[in-house]
Amino acid sequence: MTAQTLPVDPFDLVIFGGTGDLALRKLLPGLLRRYAMGQFGDDSRIIGVAREQQSSEAYREKVGEALLRAIGDNHELKDKLPAFLQRLGYHALDANKDDGWEAFAEEIKSHGDRIRVFYLSTSPSLFVNLCSRLKAHDLNGGKSRVVIEKPIGHDSASAAVINDAVGSAFAESQTFRIDHYLGKETVQNLLALRFGNILFEPLWNSDHIDHVQITVAETVGLEKRAAYYDTSGALRDMVQNHLLQLLCMVAMEPPAALQADAVRDEKLKVLRSLRPITEDEVSQLTVRGQYRAGASSGNAVPGYLDELGRNDSRTETFVALKAEVDNWRWAGVPFYLRTGKRLPERVSEIVIAFRQIPHSIFEHDAGPVMGNKLVLRLQPDEGVKLWIMIKEPGPGGLRLQHVPLDMSFAEAFGVHQPEAYERLLMDVVRGNPTLFMRRDEVEAAWKWIDPILNAWEKLREMPKTYTAGSWGPSAAVALVERDGRTWHEDTV
Ligand code: NAP
Repeated sequence: MTAQTLPVDPFDLVIFGGTGDLALRKLLPGLLRRYAMGQFGDDSRIIGVAREQQSSEAYREKVGEALLRAIGDNHELKDKLPAFLQRLGYHALDANKDDGWEAFAEEIKSHGDRIRVFYLSTSPSLFVNLCSRLKAHDLNGGKSRVVIEKPIGHDSASAAVINDAVGSAFAESQTFRIDHYLGKETVQNLLALRFGNILFEPLWNSDHIDHVQITVAETVGLEKRAAYYDTSGALRDMVQNHLLQLLCMVAMEPPAALQADAVRDEKLKVLRSLRPITEDEVSQLTVRGQYRAGASSGNAVPGYLDELGRNDSRTETFVALKAEVDNWRWAGVPFYLRTGKRLPERVSEIVIAFRQIPHSIFEHDAGPVMGNKLVLRLQPDEGVKLWIMIKEPGPGGLRLQHVPLDMSFAEAFGVHQPEAYERLLMDVVRGNPTLFMRRDEVEAAWKWIDPILNAWEKLREMPKTYTAGSWGPSAAVALVERDGRTWHEDTV
């Protein structure tokens, strides 16, 4: 089976921050793969922009080296690399200065009225100036689109400032707020499973689902992000966007159609139905952690404060919380969310834990009857498993076994699974915002997060420490276990 690649119209894609980490590690490798798959051709252009003075030739060379590192031994991509690099150009511009913008605008306009994507892969502090300059040079009309990256603010008020600045230059329909978790194959598979089958939807409610777990675990520490991360922390960096977006995909009502606003309306309703966590409840329903020295992948690693070079940071590198969606479908079903750095493995997964059967017909020595679980793994190896009870194969008495039905078809069919950024970039070019966040979603997410942040701020407690390489503070285990549940472990 081969994946279908529908070519897109010719476009100009300008990457502000074209020399940065995100551009070199994710965006440009993704674009190379799409080019190699024939999704766009030689009539499209990719233009890197940053302050560094260099020629397009020098930029191509730098990008070529980065791409070679990113693609490893993939001969197909290596073969396409020289032609792909010819699609690349470079402009030295400072978001905060006028020099060079006139010539830049002229060059962009020289290709007529075609799709233009402005990807703001820079610090959000530059978004205001970038958008106002794009507007001043009349680059915001017609088929222009702007893509903005997280973090969209650090609370409701600052998110509104960014959204207002972008909104003063680009209409909402031109604005693509990227959350790359939504571009993952498994997230779309969740839509297919829920709404393309009659099997799941009748069970998708509090009558049949006991609880939901969403885990996004990283093994890395601060890397080069110390300055940013210490002002953010795990709740802002991961929960406000990625984990809440995943929660929405699980909890939303069936949209009338797979259309951008239909889907986003349903997600918004979920965000607005999240039960607020009050100051009195915050210690009970949330756990903040910070890693101390330990081990990662068998190597000794320093603690957060040592990495940071300070000993007074109260920033959390781990958070676990219990959320509830106050509506008819989900009444009484907890959504346990956890995310953190320096955890034992890099894994992102959603676990839908179904209720126990009401009555067991089996003898005691058949073993326990465990609840069914649907496990959607987003990384490292995207896939879906449905845990069911079967009879242990072979002769003898009837003994039960809990086994996963593996529903990850891409590997079996030998289909290349596009990386999230690849898919999302092509969605922007096509003008399809279904998998992007609308302004009101971002605002509703912050509205739920703000009171938690404020309550933490009032408490002024140090986060609970956990050893690097462990699953977070013991309080995170207690959060689930005092409700008689456990965090899912993939034991097969
Ligand atoms: P980065 O490596 O620090 O790159 C920043 C880029 O912006 C560089 O190309 C830099 O080049 C350019 N730049 C800085 N000041 C500029 C100015 N005044 N005018 C024009 N260009 C300027 O950052 P990054 O990691 O790529 O991240 C970019 C954005 O994506 C950030 O908002 C980050 O939070 C977000 N993000 C990144 C990742 C990731 O994996 N890296 C993931 C999710 C979100 P010059 O210094 O030469 O100007």
